[in-house]
Amino acid sequence: MKPISYGRQHITEEDIQAVVDVLRSDYLTQGPQIDQFEKAFAAYVGAKYAVAVNNGTAALHLSALALQVKTGDKVIVTPLTFAASANCIRYCGGEVVFCDINADTYLMDLEKLRALLSTYPKGTFKGIIPVDFAGYPIQAEAFREIADSYGLWIIEDACHAPGAYFLNSKGQKQETGNGVYSDLTVFSFHPVKHITTGEGGMVTTNDPLLYERLLLYRTHGITKDPQKLMRQEGGWYMEMQELGYNYRITDFQAALGYSQLKRADSGVERRRRLIERYNSAFSRTDKIKTPVEEKGICHVYHLYVIQVEDRLGLYNYLREHQIFAQVHYVPLHTMPYYLERGNKVGDCPVVEEYYKHCLSLPLFPTLTDEEQNYIIDKVLSFVGKS
Ligand SMILES: *Cc1c(COP(=O)(O)O)cnc(C)c1O
Repeated sequence: MKPISYGRQHITEEDIQAVVDVLRSDYLTQGPQIDQFEKAFAAYVGAKYAVAVNNGTAALHLSALALQVKTGDKVIVTPLTFAASANCIRYCGGEVVFCDINADTYLMDLEKLRALLSTYPKGTFKGIIPVDFAGYPIQAEAFREIADSYGLWIIEDACHAPGAYFLNSKGQKQETGNGVYSDLTVFSFHPVKHITTGEGGMVTTNDPLLYERLLLYRTHGITKDPQKLMRQEGGWYMEMQELGYNYRITDFQAALGYSQLKRADSGVERRRRLIERYNSAFSRTDKIKTPVEEKGICHVYHLYVIQVEDRLGLYNYLREHQIFAQVHYVPLHTMPYYLERGNKVGDCPVVEEYYKHCLSLPLFPTLTDEEQNYIIDKVLSFVGKS
């Protein structure tokens, strides 16, 4: 058996051809592929606008800039996430306040969020950054209700969840990133994610003002749109209106993303099929806690996280057998950088307990049944012995 990693990209001949075609064309960047990818992605998640960028972290930073996060602004973030979800606030000088997770869904806990908000005067916080952890879509409608009553914005970090949806209180299907509840939704196209562009990211929104700001900050804060210029100096004139960045994606990456997007749904189907097989195999033992999936949602399973008593033992045992499981995540508030900023071990007990036991088993669309059977076999033989 060759080594099996926890995630892996899937590149087809069609993907390769799409990239090669762009390499032979007139534009390597700032060409037509980006517009095509943005329109297709916006349609895929049901949003009005989509802005493609060079990675998911840049997508988060642009979102914080578009919402005008400033020095001292307090923003609530889940501790169960990749560092970038919180770092984007620090880039703008804001302060991160962590809100613990729900022990079953692993998402930012709505009751704990309400409790946190009610202990401070209104106006203390500016926004919330929940994460669709592992591909489990947040109840964005409930988050919106809370956000509205406290005047907060929402950046939804959906890097794990393109293609997910939940049913709202009227029973209507709400795709993650459709812009109905969250002000901005962020995606990543890193190779372990659902679709890849190598490095890449996207922000979706339904708000025309936020959309304009994303475009401006993506390209140095410079515009050449005649209707937005403050001065007229001639055809060459481009105007820098804000301090922006170069967060553009290239055309050959956008072409890869567009090609990958065509297979996004079949990738999710395969992931869900693999989950059924994992869950049914592990239902034979009470030594493995498998993920929950409530009614009325479509979980798209970026990760398959189990919990076991001896996580370190299982992790090492699997490595000995060429199975490279991973841990998602070390709780962010316990990282030295965030400890130095006033957080303490013990602040978020639910995620800290979760972290002692969690392990993400290999999951990606090209994982074969045979490879999965091998993984299942090794996991069961380890927990059987312990
Ligand atoms: C991958 C990821 C990011 C960052 O995306 P990059 O494209 O790697 O910059 C942010 N948040 C979450 C939850 C992620 O999984």
